[in-house]
Amino acid sequence: MIFSFDDFRVHDVKGHRFLAKFFRQPTFCAFCKEFLWGFGKQGYQCQSCQTAVHKKCHDKLLGKCPGSGRNSESTIVSFKNLIHI
Ligand SMILES: [Zn+2]
Ligand SMILES: [Zn+2]
Repeated sequence: MIFSFDDFRVHDVKGHRFLAKFFRQPTFCAFCKEFLWGFGKQGYQCQSCQTAVHKKCHDKLLGKCPGSGRNSESTIVSFKNLIHI
């Protein structure tokens, strides 16, 4: 299997962080509602909210990522501050 360099990049779209992935179980594309699975093709999955999309669909997605929103790092920082108190 040969991957292009692009397959290892994180694609930022509206807060989503899409990374190329092979889907081992039936998964629907969040944009066109078609199966991502069963064609031997890979799609993208968001690292924050687990939204799955086809490669051709990932930049057409209209919804913002609910998972990352305000970056998760600030959440971790404030949590650390709580522990200090
Ligand atoms: Zn997302
Ligand atoms: Zn699609």
